[in-house]
Amino acid sequence: MHILSKSTYIKGEQCPKALYMYKKHPYLRDKLSLEKRAKFKRGTDVGILARTYFPGGVNMTPTTPSLFGKMFEKTMQNLNDPNVNVMYEAIFIHNDTLIMLDILVRDGDKWRAIEVKSSMSLNETYYHDASLQYYVLKGCKVPISDIELMYINSDYERKGDIDVKQLFVFKSVKDFAENELENIDKKVNELKDVVNLSNAPKINIGTQCFTPYTCEFRGHCWKKIPDDSFLHTTSYDDKELFSLFNSGIQDNRSFKRLINPLSLEMNQIDALEQDTFYINYKKFYDLAGKKTESIAFLNLLFYRPAVPILDGHKPYQEVVIAFSILSNQDGEVIEWNCLEDYSKMEEGLNILTEELKRFEKVIYFSAQNINSLMHKYNILESKEISFKIINFRDVLKESDFFNKKTKYDFSLKSIYEELFASEKIFEHSRIILNATSDNELERILVGKDMEDENKYLQKLYNRLLK
Ligand code: SF4
Repeated sequence: MHILSKSTYIKGEQCPKALYMYKKHPYLRDKLSLEKRAKFKRGTDVGILARTYFPGGVNMTPTTPSLFGKMFEKTMQNLNDPNVNVMYEAIFIHNDTLIMLDILVRDGDKWRAIEVKSSMSLNETYYHDASLQYYVLKGCKVPISDIELMYINSDYERKGDIDVKQLFVFKSVKDFAENELENIDKKVNELKDVVNLSNAPKINIGTQCFTPYTCEFRGHCWKKIPDDSFLHTTSYDDKELFSLFNSGIQDNRSFKRLINPLSLEMNQIDALEQDTFYINYKKFYDLAGKKTESIAFLNLLFYRPAVPILDGHKPYQEVVIAFSILSNQDGEVIEWNCLEDYSKMEEGLNILTEELKRFEKVIYFSAQNINSLMHKYNILESKEISFKIINFRDVLKESDFFNKKTKYDFSLKSIYEELFASEKIFEHSRIILNATSDNELERILVGKDMEDENKYLQKLYNRLLK
């Protein structure tokens, strides 16, 4: 029926072996991590909302994959049906490549093709995605007036109901796509040949295993790489590491001959070989500051919905939905959440501001910058605020903290479990999954998990700042 789709084409562009494995040995894929599953499900689906900009369309989504062919025929028929002016997920197949087009709108005697993106800016990948769509549309001889990317207007501010005409903006990519036709045809034919091979193509591990996405066959291709391999170090450029590795320098002994014995790289290899961690304590003490009793450990949960859910908010503006504070002095815990009604956020921010005033230092651990969020909501602007707020993750990163997992996952879990080897703790993603669950019983677990996570952070902080 078809060999490629948009997602398998993208997979093949990243690594032909990944495409082959996906088609022939999908059971070798890595287990989906909690992190990948942990998306905020409560947000509005941007794709569905975008359809309301062009109402009254016919939805061509097949109910089962076996109906792709039938829906392709139906799509082609609809092109000539004067009663059909808009189609959602219209299906086209050309050169064994299937696409589903988000929105197709009749435009005189031609059609306007629209690909919806839930971001506020466009990147090269989006242009290439749209070019593949255009290639297939042209191959199916659909008269196209334009192909556009429909994305989120960063200046939009919600006032009452969502105004889709203001929320979305458009960018034509027809000229770009037209210029790409030849390249795409070549690439499609190459990838089809890959799928038809009798064995997986021989491709060395390399930077493509992580960029632009972490490959789902990493567990399979990397199974012979030992935990203490120099490939897990971070101070050299990855391209250089892989080029050495693929040119035959595969063990640490050979690699160590090439590097400065006093370098950070050498410290990292020592840590790997001794199955421990490395930290530059001098930098660490400078950054973490002196130990005080009056410390609050802060766990703040917020999300950034593409479509604003509160009045006055812009796309992707943070909505604080829960926090937990743990006092280092007496173990007191202050908890708050608005998981049942996000419009109560303001109340929570006031409580948070009042509670934090009592402390000299506030410590949190996050890959996101909570300081800027607290500035935005005027928490740090209050005259009575005198605490110093520190992202412990940033402190550890800047102090060169390193262990065998931190290159791929600089999380509280991977750092904590290195220092307290006998303990296993849950992933932060569990909190996000429960906070956004439709099941009330799962949402109830959020407070306790946030409190526990704060206790792990407290233990880590006190251990390193001993
Ligand atoms: S792990 Fe790397 S080499 Fe293996 S299929 Fe994925 S990208 Fe290709």
